[in-house]
Amino acid sequence: MKRFFSYPLWIVAVTGTLLLSSCDDNEGVIFSVQDDIKLGQQVAREVDSTYQAKGQLLDRNSTNADVQKAYASLDRILNRVLNSGKVKYRNEFPWTVKIIKDDTVLNAFATPGGHMYVYTGLIKFLEDEDYLAGVLAHEIAHADRRHSVRQLQRDYGIAILLSVALGNDPGTLKQIAAQLGGTLAGLKFSRDAETEADTYSVTYLGGTSYYACDGAAGFFMQLNQQEQQQGTPPEFLSTHPDPDNRIANIEQEAQKQGCKTTTAPDTDLNELKAALNRL
Ligand SMILES: [Zn+2]
Repeated sequence: MKRFFSYPLWIVAVTGTLLLSSCDDNEGVIFSVQDDIKLGQQVAREVDSTYQAKGQLLDRNSTNADVQKAYASLDRILNRVLNSGKVKYRNEFPWTVKIIKDDTVLNAFATPGGHMYVYTGLIKFLEDEDYLAGVLAHEIAHADRRHSVRQLQRDYGIAILLSVALGNDPGTLKQIAAQLGGTLAGLKFSRDAETEADTYSVTYLGGTSYYACDGAAGFFMQLNQQEQQQGTPPEFLSTHPDPDNRIANIEQEAQKQGCKTTTAPDTDLNELKAALNRL
């Protein structure tokens, strides 16, 4: 009988099911917020070293004036979103953003616990600062709404993930870092998680009273144009499907929330692009 009714497993299965069927904010998450932070640190360290080895990670501590200017501009954009008053784990997560120097990649991603990465390809591609704020808000939502950790839990299971968070599973850590960075298949979120991240991007941007709260829609429209011109979907679209529905959802949400949709000045984006172009 022991073979079939292993108590601890049975309890884990039932607890997992109960948590999955609950309806609160942390639906399906049995990881603690502290675990998110630990896992995020591990994954970010691994992502950093991967891109450092390729010579593609722009070092935040660089003494190069243009690197410093690039980060100062990007931080101003990010901080407006983070300080919107709408980010739940604003003070718990470390919330950093790093730039990966690769002009061919139109993508951005976030680890659990709020370590974000943006490729120079995406920054240089975006025509409007509201769009970049929209992408950052979308990625913030994946961490803040704990989508990443929930998806990783589904992919790897809680035991392995906890072990990775504690630094005891370097093999899986490498795999997760590669997956998040899109060098493997990319972390595939559920449609619901994507819709929620879009919805929260409106909430976060609305809270800034600076950016157009439908900024993420503009980003998807620009990606659509790119796809039509080039015939192949940019990387972000391969992990974020159905741009047309998503644009409509974002616009609908903006209307529902009654937030500002007039665009902000592009001062910081222009400075950021100029600094990157000088590197
Ligand atoms: Zn997403």
